[in-house]
Amino acid sequence: MEGRSGGMGEGRGREAGGGAELEPELESEPAVAVEAVMSVQVVSAAATAKVPEVELKDLSPSEAEPQLGLSTSAVSAMAPPAGGGDPEAPAPAAERPPAPGPGSGPAAALSPAAGKVPQASAMKRSDPHHQHQRHRDGGEALVSPDGTVTEAPRTVKKQIQFADQKQEFNKRPTKIGRRSLSRSISQSSTDSYSSAASYTDSSDDETSPRDKQQKNSKGSSDFCVKNIKQAEFGRREIEIAEQEMPALMALRKRAQGEKPLAGAKIVGCTHITAQTAVLMETLGALGAQCRWAACNIYSTLNEVAAALAESGFPVFAWKGESEDDFWWCIDRCVNVEGWQPNMILDDGGDLTHWIYKKYPNMFKKIKGIVEESVTGVHRLYQLSKAGKLCVPAMNVNDSVTKQKFDNLYCCRESILDGLKRTTDMMFGGKQVVVCGYGEVGKGCCAALKAMGSIVYVTEIDPICALQACMDGFRLVKLNEVIRQVDIVITCTGNKNVVTREHLDRMKNSCIVCNMGHSNTEIDVASLRTPELTWERVRSQVDHVIWPDGKRIVLLAEGRLLNLSCSTVPTFVLSITATTQALALIELYNAPEGRYKQDVYLLPKKMDEYVASLHLPTFDAHLTELTDEQAKYLGLNKNGPFKPNYYRY
Ligand code: NAD
Repeated sequence: MEGRSGGMGEGRGREAGGGAELEPELESEPAVAVEAVMSVQVVSAAATAKVPEVELKDLSPSEAEPQLGLSTSAVSAMAPPAGGGDPEAPAPAAERPPAPGPGSGPAAALSPAAGKVPQASAMKRSDPHHQHQRHRDGGEALVSPDGTVTEAPRTVKKQIQFADQKQEFNKRPTKIGRRSLSRSISQSSTDSYSSAASYTDSSDDETSPRDKQQKNSKGSSDFCVKNIKQAEFGRREIEIAEQEMPALMALRKRAQGEKPLAGAKIVGCTHITAQTAVLMETLGALGAQCRWAACNIYSTLNEVAAALAESGFPVFAWKGESEDDFWWCIDRCVNVEGWQPNMILDDGGDLTHWIYKKYPNMFKKIKGIVEESVTGVHRLYQLSKAGKLCVPAMNVNDSVTKQKFDNLYCCRESILDGLKRTTDMMFGGKQVVVCGYGEVGKGCCAALKAMGSIVYVTEIDPICALQACMDGFRLVKLNEVIRQVDIVITCTGNKNVVTREHLDRMKNSCIVCNMGHSNTEIDVASLRTPELTWERVRSQVDHVIWPDGKRIVLLAEGRLLNLSCSTVPTFVLSITATTQALALIELYNAPEGRYKQDVYLLPKKMDEYVASLHLPTFDAHLTELTDEQAKYLGLNKNGPFKPNYYRY
């Protein structure tokens, strides 16, 4: 979730804006080169962007199978139970085309038929009251005890300097020393992320978790969390999240009996939230042992970390870690006597780099890396290009089921939430300008239009601009509407989209906010001048007042609005978490040689499978191809249904 973000484009924007930087030898690539690398990474020849559609039709069904897939154990663990009685039920195995060799795994396991989850797995939607309560509370949580908002991204050094800095991690520094540790972390690990924020933040307890002796009820002290006593409350949070994560719950059910991750020792570094907890407990149910640290120093939900520790997961994370704590926690996950990880699940690349720099020998046993964030993926491609990637890696960030759902639907749902909680505004009739009509911009525009706002769009790309026009939005230059709009929203992944000049020209009470990854889109720094007065009116809400009394309403100081001021929908995270789980299963079970030391995209069939696991929630009925239709389209009846270059 670091990125909670999209493609490589945003990575460029982020880096341009001073986001996490790579080591000197891993410098940024031009966009085209990066994309070229990506396009050839998919193992399935039929599915690569280089294969024209016509060739796909020529392939026999078995040839059309991706050359990678789940192992037999993973397949059977995830195959739906036989029978079912549903007339639209999964095609019997005999009907499925034979898929010998490596392809047989995914063919069976990932077929749309297999994807038809038994009705039992269709989870009830969560209690809206609970959800609401949780959101309200979560949204308040980034305020520090004195009422100020933590200012991490600007103050934390962003360069990772693993190589030449020797830190003795057995010697624990003093409290002050912990802060001064010069090893620094990626911006993602300091970005505010209040959807994950703890609302039982025990800020009254100033003792560092590292100085506490805590044990869970079974006597284990192999964890480090803020307060183990919060476990019960965290458990309720996890149970709420489970209701909106049907696919992971379905995977758990199917894993009963066979454990596709038996023997897997997964070390993870992600946001520690209720949704992550559902993922971790699913991995546990699938047979894995897990040790976990947080990928962001603010995002840990303390009570959830406590619940995980109570149920036996060695979790090392709390909200408000120092930089030194951050690395200490990661180190505690990997530097363990008698336990060595064989899989990595990373979000941002910090864990991977830590192992890479501190314990390179560990890679001898590591079977693969699954990376979610755009930043982490970017690093992996650069390592790969430099010939330094020593294990296979899965790029989950660029999966269709991540990018097209997380970016579009997540923002469509959360933009209004973020605006409403911070400003209580009514949207009907308001004039809004949305900068950027990519996935995020499309989501924001759709939500605002539906609420009756008058929406303008700015774009630099004529294709996206034309899409905006044809979707019924007025395409304008920001200058043309800046005086009249009530709300300005940036979602470009770019920098300085809203400049001081724009800010000067905005009308009184104009709301300014950002939905892009980094806080570079609005030139907030330009507002820190003596003639302007800043007034903190609410958590995450500043009034910036001009000498003539005009004020603009700046939300979250230009950081991601939805992640700073609201929560994101669990169901969307379920989709991403399921892709992560499948990627882990796939890499862990892949026979020797299926994956080389390179970065791979999740095979299309897995994307389709992830989607199909979420369909029962909607009682959706998927149409099956007839044999004749399948032949006509040159497709395997069980997918994949689109070539990899299909854009959805
Ligand atoms: P995208 O590349 O699909 O869209 C960005 C659009 O902005 C592009 O169409 C581009 O042409 C346009 N653009 C670039 N510079 C511009 C400028 N100066 N003026 C107007 N338009 C400009 O990316 P996306 O998937 O929509 O993501 C956009 C940003 O949102 C990224 O930074 C991404 O990390 C972030 N993101 C946020 C969330 C969230 O939950 N808030 C989720 C996913 C992604």
